[in-house]
Amino acid sequence: MEQKTICIDFDGVIHDYSKGWQGEDVFGQIIPNADTGTATLKKNGWTIIIFTTRKKTEKLEKWLEENNISYDHINENPNQPEHASGKIIADVYLDDRGICFRGLMRDIIEFEPWQEQQKREIEQLATYGQTEDDIWSRGNEKRIKQAHV
Ligand SMILES: [Mg+2]
Repeated sequence: MEQKTICIDFDGVIHDYSKGWQGEDVFGQIIPNADTGTATLKKNGWTIIIFTTRKKTEKLEKWLEENNISYDHINENPNQPEHASGKIIADVYLDDRGICFRGLMRDIIEFEPWQEQQKREIEQLATYGQTEDDIWSRGNEKRIKQAHV
C-alpha cells in the first residue's frame, strides 16, 4: 500500500467553527463523521496532518483526542525535505476554503465556503413559505381571471 499524506484543515472541516474566532482554545462542535472519516483514512495507510492556522496547544490536542480524531501530526510533517518551504508536502489538502484548481481561475469568483452556502440555503428555506404563498396567489389570480373569460 502506497503511503499517502493528507493535510486536513481544522476550522470548518474537523469542527464546525460555529463560535467563530474566540481564541486559540475555543472550539465548536465536531463535524459529523470527522472521527470515522479520519479513522478510515488511517486504516487505509494515510498519514494525517492537521494543518491549521491555530497553534498546536494542549487544549487542541485534548479536543482532538476527546472527539476521536485520528491524526499523526499537527502543523508539521517530520518527513518534510530540508530544502522545502513551510508549505507541507501532501498528496491532498482538505480545506473548507480551498478550491480544486482545474485550470480555470474563474472558479474563484463564485467560491463560497460550505458554511456560508448552508446559511444562504437556510435563509432561502425560511422564506420558502412566503414564496409558495406568492406563487399560489398568482396562480389563483390567473385561475380566477380564466374563470371569468
Ligand atoms: Mg477552515
